[in-house]
Amino acid sequence: MSIKQTDERYIAHTYKRFDLAIVKGNGCLCWDDNGKEYIDMTSGIGVNAFGYSDPVWADAVANQAKLLQHTSNLYYTAPCAELAEILCTRTGMSKVFFSNSGAEANECAVKVARKYAAQHKGAEYYNIITLNKSFHGRTLTTLAATGQDNFHHDFLPLTDGFLYAEPNDTEGLQKLVKENKVAGILIEIVQGEGGVNSLDADFVKAVDAICRENDIVLMVDEVQTGNGRTGKLYSYMHYGIQPDTVSTAKGLAAGLPMGATLLSEKVGEVLGYGDHGSTFGGNPVCAAAAISVMNRMDEDFLAEVAAKGQYVKERVEAAGFAVSGMGLMIGIETKKPVAEVIAACMANGVLCLSAKEKLRLLPPLNIPMEQLTKAVDVILASLS
Ligand SMILES: *Cc1c(COP(=O)(O)O)cnc(C)c1O
Repeated sequence: MSIKQTDERYIAHTYKRFDLAIVKGNGCLCWDDNGKEYIDMTSGIGVNAFGYSDPVWADAVANQAKLLQHTSNLYYTAPCAELAEILCTRTGMSKVFFSNSGAEANECAVKVARKYAAQHKGAEYYNIITLNKSFHGRTLTTLAATGQDNFHHDFLPLTDGFLYAEPNDTEGLQKLVKENKVAGILIEIVQGEGGVNSLDADFVKAVDAICRENDIVLMVDEVQTGNGRTGKLYSYMHYGIQPDTVSTAKGLAAGLPMGATLLSEKVGEVLGYGDHGSTFGGNPVCAAAAISVMNRMDEDFLAEVAAKGQYVKERVEAAGFAVSGMGLMIGIETKKPVAEVIAACMANGVLCLSAKEKLRLLPPLNIPMEQLTKAVDVILASLS
């Protein structure tokens, strides 16, 4: 049987895959089972920050795998401790909880918000406000957090205590806060799956102010926007706010499963011994990969991400298409159906994503200008 036939026969049909089997990759390029080359503008949905099988990343992974691959969280390990120190130092956060995915990182944030509220205001303050069009994961709690009905049906009842506000509607949010007992507010600075929609700067600052005034835990979901994607290490840094929790995953270990929930000083001690856990969380191989990622994401690197994003935006806008997003997290409003644009790009050797009705680009953050230029040429030709 072909790769495709075996996959279709034995793997649950939860993903409608593109008709493409990727067999190897190198940087921003990859190849299918017929040897055809593609420029990858997807990074495995914002995961492969340095592209496929980057040599620095691969060495960090291989060296750690040969030294110590897993110990359980009952023991100290150097990569886990070092990564936590780097993350706290670079964000001003106080503590880190490590897990394996974005959904788990958000679950931890929700547990922290609820326990903080229970301790400071009473157990009835359990509500979490999220935004319409948000995406926070596929577990029953993070589905409840996801403000899109189409993900909910067939799986009810979801975790109780989630309320939805309209993005950029400060008054509506204030009303929800006034009328309900609220533990936390969870936002994406740029909604990813929901259509690459950046929140207004004023709204982000208003959410921060509402949280301070009401002693509500401000949770920022940086699963997709984090780890350099928007041209800052974390996207909240564009607005000078300091969240109480930052959840991240996707690009953190650049291709290995790792989630992290960063906790501010205010909530850093909320979870105590036995309150939360994860067998694989903080795995040394994943942590070593993430350390190598963080060490390469200095200010010059982040400035390049922003400049490359600006380059794409200018060319696409000049061609008459509206662009959304920040840095190398880019949404493009297409005039024909987005599936047709993606198919045309793929036929011409460029892999792209969609987000709702938009074309979504999440290229490797270190994509060379030469390949980025070529990819944009193909995308512009496919758009018109
Ligand atoms: C992808 C994503 C998640 C879910 O991450 P998983 O690793 O698939 O659990 C959560 N939030 C945002 C913003 C995401 O983009």
